[in-house]
Order: sequence, then C-alpha cells, then structure tokens
Amino acid sequence: MLSIRSPTSQLLLRSCSYYSTTASAAAVEAERTIRQGPRNDWTRQQIKSIHDSPVLDLLFHGAQVHRYAHNFREVQQCTLLSIKTGGCSEDCSYCPQSSRYHTGLKAQKLMTKEAVMQAAKQAKEAGSTRFCMGAAWRDTVGRKTNFNQILEYVKDIRDMGMEVCCTLGMLEKQQALELKKAGLTAYNHNLDTSREYYPNIITTRTYDERLETLQHVREAGINVCSGGIIGLGEAAEDRVGLLHTLATLPSHPESVPINALVAVKGTPLQDQKPVEIWEMIRMIATARIVMPKSMVRLSAGRVRFSMPEQALCFLAGANSIFTGEKLLTTPNNDFDADQLMFKILGLIPKAPSFSEEEAEGSEAENCEEALSSSG
Ligand code: SF4
Repeated sequence: MLSIRSPTSQLLLRSCSYYSTTASAAAVEAERTIRQGPRNDWTRQQIKSIHDSPVLDLLFHGAQVHRYAHNFREVQQCTLLSIKTGGCSEDCSYCPQSSRYHTGLKAQKLMTKEAVMQAAKQAKEAGSTRFCMGAAWRDTVGRKTNFNQILEYVKDIRDMGMEVCCTLGMLEKQQALELKKAGLTAYNHNLDTSREYYPNIITTRTYDERLETLQHVREAGINVCSGGIIGLGEAAEDRVGLLHTLATLPSHPESVPINALVAVKGTPLQDQKPVEIWEMIRMIATARIVMPKSMVRLSAGRVRFSMPEQALCFLAGANSIFTGEKLLTTPNNDFDADQLMFKILGLIPKAPSFSEEEAEGSEAENCEEALSSSG
C-alpha cells in the first residue's frame, strides 16, 4: 500500500480533496489511489472515465500519483537487443519479423554468446541497468539447444550486475522455472491491445494463451513486463480494455510498456497514421493512476517525439525507457540525445534492484525522497 507519511503528502491530499468538488474522474481516482494504494478491482467504466478526463487534468493527476509511488526524477534505462531476428511463424500485423510479410528483413540465427555479452557490456557502460533479449519465436518449445544457450546468457549478464529480461514468445511453466533459476529478472510478453480488438491484429495465438504465459511467469517468481501498442487502428475503448485487463490481473505487471506503432513498410499496418503525443499522454497517465507502482515504459515510437513531448510523458508518469540505437529492428533514439535529455530535464538513471527486500527498501526511500522533493 502507498502510505501517507509526511506533512507534504497531507498538503497534497488536501489539495486533491479541494479539487474533487468539481473533479474529473482522473482527480477522484488519483486521490483514491494515493489514499488506498494499488487495487485490482477496477471496472472498465472507471478506467474509461480516467482515460477520457480533460487531458491536462489527467496529466496533472498522473504526475501526482507518480510522485507518491516513485522518485519522479529516476528513469530506468533498458537496452533491448534482438538476439534472434526475423523468420517468425506468427502473423502479428505490426511486426516486420513475421515471415508472412515482405519487409526486406533478413532472418538470422541466434547470436553467439560473445556477441551478446559484448552488447550487454556496451549497454552497461552506456548507463543501462537492464538488458533485454528478444527472439522472434512463437514459443521456445522444441528449441532446447537455443533455450539452454539463452539460459547461459541470462546467468552471465546477471553476473555482470545487470537486471536481465527476455522476450521469447510463449513460455511453458517449466521454462519459466528454468529462466528464474538462471537469474532472470523479468519476462516481457505484451497483450498488445484489448481482447476484442486482438483478433484484428493476431490470429496465430489467442489472448488467453498470452495470459497463460503471464501466469507461468508470475508463478515462477519472475517479474512480469506486459503492455501494448497504440496506433494499430483500435478505438479509444480498446486502449481502455487493454489497461483494464492489465490493472485487474491478480498482481499488476512490474513493468508496463506503452508503445506507439512504428509502421513498417510491407506489414499490414504500414499505412496507419502516427500516434499523437496526446494519445500517449492519456495512456501513460491512465496507466500510472490505475497501476501506481508499475514501471511505465515509454517504448517504441519514442523516436518520433521531441524532447518537450517526452518531458510531458515523464511528467504524466513514465519512468522507464529503452536506450540503444535499435528497438529489436526499428530505429530508436540517439544515445547522445538521450544523455542530453536526462541532463536538461534533471532526470537520473534508476539503479538496478535484485531482490524483493532491496526493491521494497529502495521503494520506501523513493517515496520519501519524492515527497520531500515535491514540497
Ligand atoms: S511480434 Fe513476436 S511473435 Fe509476433 S511476429 Fe513479431 S517476432 Fe513473431
């Protein structure tokens, strides 16, 4: 539970109460989140009302919840490397790595240990604290040799003092347990969109199969990283549906990536119109209010947003980014530009955390520091 500890927090709460007489849903629910902490019994209508609140009000209240639950200056830097690119049997309409679309992407085998370790080392030197490895597979069943290699990569990168994340497609229970044993911090498996819109985007695996993988990850004791993509042609209602599914899981995902589609030529979604910054802000602030403790990651599509636009996303509650020149196969922000942005916005890199005890400890410190900074 988030707690109310200092005079500063009391003052902030009184200001929330004052505004609640004429308040938007964002104001009311943000105040409730601050008072009561995370909850899993959100109705879809409640989330819709937050999402549809006047955008500046939503931004303000997302920022307020962010300051309660996190050190608002800290931003986690993750590096995502495609360790096995292309040739995927799935039909995700947004993805250049599907073998069904003609995007000019050349399929490659699993990267060697030397190459992966070199990339992890470079990422660490550049300030990244989490190294994520992505493989373009439906699942890891029948890939014992490759899977065992990845277990080794996980172990060695963890030994370098980095958090390690994988995204390898669907996981079975046993594989999740093996990844946990190797030292995996988090597993990424996005829900992509709402249950209703999902069949328009992917037909080769079901929404329930995705949820089952998340359950295996959770049960193995690995942190869950799951979010979605906006700009797939979905309605606002589908964005709400995605957040509702995530926010009503038995435990909220520790990380929630919010991606803006990067339309790639040759995929069925190549002509989608780009997402506007206000749509991102609505998603980020709503995610922050309904899943206050999660790391909300400003993910794919960040490359299109200017520094002031990204600043609004951080203000709304985003506290994690991908760094590195590529996000799997699509372009990402320039490293030097990110360094400059951190400097100008007064952001600081978030240190890695490796155990629940450590995480709880630093979370309490973060809350205290955030509250004292906000006074
Ligand atoms: S998103 Fe993943 S599963 Fe879907 S086609 Fe791309 S690589 Fe395959």
